[in-house]
Amino acid sequence: MRYPLGFTLAQAKHRHKMGKAKQKRYPSVLMLEPLYTCNLACIGCSTERYSGKLSDRMTLEQCFKAVDDCGAPIVNVCGGEPTLYPELKGLIDGLIARGKHILMCTNALRLDDKVFGVIPPSDKLFLMIHLDGLRETHDYVCNRKGVFDKAIEAIKKGKELGYTIFLNTTVYRETKVEEVEGLCQMIDELKANGILISPGYEYESVERDIFLKSDQIHEKFKAIRDFSHKYKINATPMFLEFAAGLRELKCSPWSTVNYTPKGWKAPCYLIEGEGHYQDWNSFWNGTDWEYWESRQDKRCQNCKMHSGFEHSAVEEAMKSVKGTLQLAAWTLG
Ligand code: SF4
Repeated sequence: MRYPLGFTLAQAKHRHKMGKAKQKRYPSVLMLEPLYTCNLACIGCSTERYSGKLSDRMTLEQCFKAVDDCGAPIVNVCGGEPTLYPELKGLIDGLIARGKHILMCTNALRLDDKVFGVIPPSDKLFLMIHLDGLRETHDYVCNRKGVFDKAIEAIKKGKELGYTIFLNTTVYRETKVEEVEGLCQMIDELKANGILISPGYEYESVERDIFLKSDQIHEKFKAIRDFSHKYKINATPMFLEFAAGLRELKCSPWSTVNYTPKGWKAPCYLIEGEGHYQDWNSFWNGTDWEYWESRQDKRCQNCKMHSGFEHSAVEEAMKSVKGTLQLAAWTLG
């Protein structure tokens, strides 16, 4: 299967529950960023996500309140670098106790001492290892030599220890499609569970021009789509069509909500300058979702991120028998 069965069932159950309650908009994923501290300063990352002080991190109580308030079945623990969060074990234990599935996005540099032997493998915990290309490209994007080798070492060790591990790849202007296929080929060699591939988002706070414009995104994702059937790529067929410019979709920014050390970030984790809300109800009721769904804002023009469009892709697929069957085959593949 594309994702472990429990994860797929949790998503399906949540969708069914929301459908029954006639909820048009609902979060499926909470992007929880307990800290804005990182041990890297990657060139494609928004500056605020790696420049924060550790002392400004969230408390566990704040994290769990956000999780309970939004009700999403999946919690994407990111940041910042989550392995630097001193309360990480308490956070993961608490999320598992709440029945959540956890995607932990990490650069893998501290898995050895902060996760392995500290937080046991669980069928609810997936490690998403940041790998933005092969050695030269990844080290360039991470702005440090040796990061690629360290991540590969951690993946091998993590798999030996029984963790579920996905590769998590952002495609930039410098990324060659052959490199992305090279990473896909490494899935089997590393015994990893799959790979998530996204086009990089052009943050206003990032000065270097490494991001893809629409035409370049389409060109690269057309090529990725052409070889996608050969590998365990964790992007739905409909999303890949969208990324390749073969269909249009509305955005569903409410499907992946973002809680940060500054509060609930509106409308999504990518947009800067729209402020933060301190409580869930004012965030959920105060954000003009219709406006952001329409993608008319100039900051949305080149965005093709999973967080905004995977939900739309699944909804679109399920409108037809052909799309539903294609999605089912993809899920089981
Ligand atoms: S299009 Fe992208 S940037 Fe705009 S609201 Fe959707 S996810 Fe956010």
